[in-house]
Amino acid sequence: MADKVVFLEYVMKKFEEVADKINLDPKVRTILSQPKNEIIVNFPVQMDNGEYKLFKGYRIQHNNVQGPYKGGIRYHEEVKLDEVKALAMLMTIKCALVGLPLGGAKGGIKFNPREFSQDELMRITRRFTHSLGDSIGPNYDIPAPDMGTNAQTMVWMMDTYMNTRDQGSRHNVRGVVTGKSVECGGTLGRNSATGTGVVMCVEEWAKGTGLNLADSTFSIQGFGNVGSWAAIGLASLGAHLTAVNDHTGTIICPEGINVYSLKEYVAKNGGIAGFGDYPVLSREEFFSHEVDILIPAALENQIDTEEAEAIKAKLIAEGANGPTTPAGEEILKNKGVSIMPDVLANSGGVIVSYFEWVQNKASNYWVEEKVHSELKRVITSAYLEVVNTSKNHNCDMRSASFIKAFESLQNTYALRGIFP
Ligand code: GLU
Repeated sequence: MADKVVFLEYVMKKFEEVADKINLDPKVRTILSQPKNEIIVNFPVQMDNGEYKLFKGYRIQHNNVQGPYKGGIRYHEEVKLDEVKALAMLMTIKCALVGLPLGGAKGGIKFNPREFSQDELMRITRRFTHSLGDSIGPNYDIPAPDMGTNAQTMVWMMDTYMNTRDQGSRHNVRGVVTGKSVECGGTLGRNSATGTGVVMCVEEWAKGTGLNLADSTFSIQGFGNVGSWAAIGLASLGAHLTAVNDHTGTIICPEGINVYSLKEYVAKNGGIAGFGDYPVLSREEFFSHEVDILIPAALENQIDTEEAEAIKAKLIAEGANGPTTPAGEEILKNKGVSIMPDVLANSGGVIVSYFEWVQNKASNYWVEEKVHSELKRVITSAYLEVVNTSKNHNCDMRSASFIKAFESLQNTYALRGIFP
C-alpha cells in the first residue's frame, strides 16, 4: 500500500497533467495550485478522567470562486495537512464538476474516535467548532460528515455555532453544517446519499456497457456509511455482494452476503469479522476475488500496484476519495478495467448536502422522493457529461471529470478576474 504522504503528490500530478492537456489559463492554474486558506488549530479538551488533552484540527479552504467553501470533517488518527489539502482540492473539482454553486474545503482532527467516549467526542467537536470561530459559516464555509464523523457530530457543530451567535440570528444559521439529523434541520436522504449516488452512476455505466446488474457480482472495501448504502442499493437491483473487506478482515461468500444483516452486525460490532461465521480472510484474498464491480469505500491509496495486478473486475467505482494510486490506475487501465473516479462516483453526498443547505435557507423541507429524483437528475447528467467529455478528449473518466471542472472554473475566472 502506498504511503499517505504521497497522496497530495498524486492529486497534484493529475492536476498538472490535465491542466497541460487542456492548456488551462496559467492564471487559473496558479490560483488552483494552492488552497486559499490553511487553518490549523490546537485546542485542549477535558477528558472523562478530568485531564486535559491537546488536539490538532485542520480546515483547508481550497477555492470559493463559485460559492461558499464546502466539504467534510474527518476524524482519523492519520489526518495530516497534506492529506487534507489534497482532499480539499478534490472537493473544488467535485462541486464544479456536478455544477453546484459551492467551492471546496476539507477538515479534520488527528485522533482515533473509537478510543473516546461519546461525551469526550462531544467536547472535542464543540471545542474544535469554537476554535474555528468565524472561519466557518452558512454563507462562508459549510462542513459536513466524512470518515469518522456522522449526523451527531454535525448537530454538535451546529449547536455550538448557533450558541455563539446573537439570539435573533440563531435560527438562520442552521445551514452552517450539512449532514445533520433530520430532527435538527437535516434533509431526508442525506445519510444514504453518497452510497445511493454510487449506485446511480453504476446503473448508468451498466446501461452503457450492457452489463445486467441483476446477474452481477460486486465487492466492497469499507462497510461504513458509503459502503453499506451502496451495497443496499446494488442488492436491491438484484446484484450479489460476494466479498467485503474492512479494518477487521475479509469475508467472502460466492452465493451473496445478506447486506441488511451485515449492516446491523457492523453497527453493533464495529467491523465485519465474525459475521455469519464466515472465516476471516486476508486483504489479498479480497482484492484477488473475481467480481464485476469493485467499490473501494474506505481510505485513499488502497489500490496500488499489487492490488491492481490482483484485481479481476470490470469496473472500479470509487466510493472513497483517492483510493487508486496513479501506478495502480495505469495497471488497471492496461487490463481494460474502467475506473469511475471519486469526484463523480461519490458526489451524491455533497449534492444532497447542497439540497440540505437550500432547504435550511428556505426553511422549507422536501419529501424524500424529491431528494431522490433531484439527486438522480444531477448525478446522471454529470455522469453523461463525463462520458461525452472522455469521448471528445479521448481520455479516461478521471481526466474527463477534471477537464469539466477546470473548464467551469476557468469560465468563472474569465468573467470575474481577481479583486482588487
Ligand atoms: N465528505 C463528503 C465528500 O467527501 C461530503 C462533503 C459534503 O457533503 O460537503 O464528498
